[in-house]
Amino acid sequence: MPRMPGGPRFWWILLALLAVNWFVVSLIPDREERLAVPYTVFREQVIAGNVAEVTSKGDTIQGEFRKAVTYPSGSDSSDTTFGTERPAFGDDELLPLMIEKGVEVNATPVDEGRSLLTTLLFSFGPVILLVLLFVFLMRRAAGGAGGALTGLGKSKAKRYDASAQRVTFADVAGIDEAEEELVEIVDFLKNPDRYRRLGGQIPRGVLLSGPPGTGKTLLARAVAGEADVPFFSLSASEFVEMIVGVGASRVRDLFAQAKATAPAIIFIDELDAIGRARGGSASLGGNDEREQTLNQILTEMDGFSGGEGVIVLAATNRPEILDAALLRPGRFDRRVAVNPPDRDGRAAILEVHLRGVPVADDVSVEGLAQATPGMVGADLRNLINEAALMAARRNHERVEPADFTDALEKIVLGAERRIMLSPAERERTAYHESGHALLGMLQPGADPVRKISIVPRGRALGVTFQAPDADRYGYGVSYLRGRIIGALGGRAAEEVVYGDITTGAESDLEQVTAIARRMVGRWGMSEAIGPVSVLAGPADEPLLFPGQGGAPSPRTQELLDTEVRRIIEECYVEAVRVLQANREKLTALATALLDRETLDEADAYRVAGVTRERASV
Ligand code: ADP
Ligand code: ZN
Repeated sequence: MPRMPGGPRFWWILLALLAVNWFVVSLIPDREERLAVPYTVFREQVIAGNVAEVTSKGDTIQGEFRKAVTYPSGSDSSDTTFGTERPAFGDDELLPLMIEKGVEVNATPVDEGRSLLTTLLFSFGPVILLVLLFVFLMRRAAGGAGGALTGLGKSKAKRYDASAQRVTFADVAGIDEAEEELVEIVDFLKNPDRYRRLGGQIPRGVLLSGPPGTGKTLLARAVAGEADVPFFSLSASEFVEMIVGVGASRVRDLFAQAKATAPAIIFIDELDAIGRARGGSASLGGNDEREQTLNQILTEMDGFSGGEGVIVLAATNRPEILDAALLRPGRFDRRVAVNPPDRDGRAAILEVHLRGVPVADDVSVEGLAQATPGMVGADLRNLINEAALMAARRNHERVEPADFTDALEKIVLGAERRIMLSPAERERTAYHESGHALLGMLQPGADPVRKISIVPRGRALGVTFQAPDADRYGYGVSYLRGRIIGALGGRAAEEVVYGDITTGAESDLEQVTAIARRMVGRWGMSEAIGPVSVLAGPADEPLLFPGQGGAPSPRTQELLDTEVRRIIEECYVEAVRVLQANREKLTALATALLDRETLDEADAYRVAGVTRERASV
């Protein structure tokens, strides 16, 4: 399929502009509404002396009555302005009659339909629209931001001056290994001559890979800041929908700019957006723009003689799908993994972001770090920000521990919602959450239950929050099955207590399916499929990329579905069995929840009569 300029968006914009045009035209008043009266009525009014003025052109007569006239009589259409048609067979006494009655003749010109402005809009509107659209497309291609027509293909990379808003390694915490690997780059940028003299192989490209929010961009900027060199940044995803050829010329321009100010750093964010492996069904319709942009980047990097002093840093959260060509020597041959921080790392990141924040003495950074497993730098910054807002709203002088716990709860569980549940719904929700919680308490090795609540939050009517005592890095089969059983606990409880189920378990089922699919398709935990990788990527798509095993066979995919189903069904049977065997604990929890709405960790275990098993850390 040939690529239309701008793709479907083009047509949407055209449509929107037409709508705007139509709207503007409709705002301009049409000819005034005049009361249409028969000639005879008009004549009567002249005789009655009720006509103030008239205008005529041809046989059309328009004018104004002194007093409003209602026509047809008895209706509610009444007006002081009127229009009528003079019959062709004449009435030559009209003019003298009007003069006699003191009617002002030809006071204003007859209004003929639309005004001049409207006419102009109608005749030139479409042309103007097309011109606007064209200009818009050109500017978009040129990268918007002030890009006039001449800017087509000019790089939009933002140039940060090293002196302004300088970021240094002191602003980066908790990802020490990645940081250490970049120290050398900083040194090279600072003393390029020393390296050149010794003929050392200077790195050209460094690929930072890691989940979103772990600080890849921050790290790249810190390298520039430490070395005191300009930083050019560019997001690769912007190239994907551009007009063919623009991306490549922008890349050329970006590299030229960077070389002119060398030593410098070029940062390409979301490299995977253009750097996906070529071929295969992943590139539907063959995205030429993507390929051309990618090729241009490769060409530029190959063109480095080594003396330019330009280093390209790129970030991706999906290194596994990158085209092998990008990773060849002389290109992004250095790879630095930026991992989510561990507990100490989180504490260090919290310290960095707490710098300017007044905090009460009893806030424990260690405690916060412990309570935030799985959170990355961006999440932690967000947490501190939420807590500060919470404190401000409560008129606290400093941010207090309660502000932090409430902010954390809001982030992890969603904000509370004020909706009224009927008593029946509340009771069902209480049993549903108790089912999750009880299974979480009874499954050996499951993450301890921290909180149960039937206060509606976000999309959920209630929540059960579980978190491990320490960070977890690997998961065993029995732990994962326990997770599935716990997640099915809400639905199972509804079935045990009410004998039927509701829609409330939707997100539980999504979660369960995701875990089971990964167990089978990624982690080789099903005997039927064996230790074979079937799924990949953050969305668990079937593997499709050449060089990585090709697409799984239809039989394997079918087997995957069967195995996923088997695991979930087995877990569900187990969930129902455990809840039936612990019916009185379930009722005790649900009753306490109905009474108190929220139970914390200690209360929940006490009410259920379960002893909390301390994980061996
Ligand atoms: P990424 O590029 O990996 O998606 P960013 O660098 O854009 O992540 O992180 C977003 C923000 O989160 C940063 O500007 C910084 O404020 C904070 N942040 C992330 N990681 C860290 C870290 N390791 N140390 C300190 N702050 C961090
Ligand atoms: Zn649920």
